[in-house]
Amino acid sequence: MTMYFNNEDTCKQAIIETRWGVGDNQDVVCPYCGEHHCVTRKDGRFRCNHCKRNFSCKVGTIFEDSNLSLVKWFIAMYLISSHKKGISSCQLARDIKVTQTTAWHMLHKVRVLLAQDDAEGFSGEVECDEVYIGGREKWKHQSMRTPHTQGRSTKTKTPVFGMMERSEIENEDGEFDYISIMFEMKNKNDTTATKHKNEDFLKKLDEDRRKKGCEYAVLVSLLEPDNETYNTGIIDVSHKYEKMYVIRPQFFIPIITLLVQAAKKSLEYKRQLAIAQSKEVDVTNFESKLNEFRNLFGNNVKNAHDRFRDAIAAIDKSIADLQKVKDNLLKSDDHLRLANDKVEGLTIRKLTHTPPR
Ligand SMILES: [Zn+2]
Repeated sequence: MTMYFNNEDTCKQAIIETRWGVGDNQDVVCPYCGEHHCVTRKDGRFRCNHCKRNFSCKVGTIFEDSNLSLVKWFIAMYLISSHKKGISSCQLARDIKVTQTTAWHMLHKVRVLLAQDDAEGFSGEVECDEVYIGGREKWKHQSMRTPHTQGRSTKTKTPVFGMMERSEIENEDGEFDYISIMFEMKNKNDTTATKHKNEDFLKKLDEDRRKKGCEYAVLVSLLEPDNETYNTGIIDVSHKYEKMYVIRPQFFIPIITLLVQAAKKSLEYKRQLAIAQSKEVDVTNFESKLNEFRNLFGNNVKNAHDRFRDAIAAIDKSIADLQKVKDNLLKSDDHLRLANDKVEGLTIRKLTHTPPR
């Protein structure tokens, strides 16, 4: 499982939408006095008209009082919630590049929040690494360089996190197969004069995905906020680019879960196919089995044919017998009719008979 994402604002928006709803249905509630319909300030924070206090979306959440980036928090929550058997603070510290003490505090907060339910998530080994995307300073023209930006600087490069779930299933080359997803986050600040719709970013995402060798590509987008299609759920755009989806931030975990499950199923099919293919076909056995089958089938056909003939003969005999019965019935009917006529004639004659005077 490989994922890439980098955007703090998208995380904030996800918190806001999760806490207080989306679009017109959004109702920001004051974390201090509980007043509804707090107003959004220009700086992205909120103001309560009742108690006159300002607050950010982090107030009243586990992210409050933390200087860590929300991206790290989100990855941490994801890692913690998806490790069925739990994750150690050492592991978490390595995974998201924080100190063990910080990781321990994060673990504690998230565990309290999650109460560790039985949600389906990751299993196996999860790898996480941090990379930086952007040109190397030394390849740039002198005038284009930014001072003090060698190596891991975020001034000219975009930090990206990658996570990977290793599967226990090996492929033909003895390597581990795994699912890889590329996430690209877009919010209103990411638009340009020519690119402002979700569709405008798909081509680039597809290119990036291919470069990274990611199987799936997901655009996590806040663009086109009034577009009903994008607001309804996970939008499959595979008719344009294969294995690509556009989602709102709140569908982040659902899509990962879906894709991981799908990948696991397909891996299982691949494994079964490999087992079937690896079984050598025993030609001698196969031929004798085929002959055996043919003989048995031939016998069955012969038996069936004999039984059929017998049945036809039995039916013919029955028809002949029934014909006899029918003839007899018709004869007796004639007799009855004759007898009846005699009776009737007798009666009429009797009735019309003028007795002798
Ligand atoms: Zn208030």
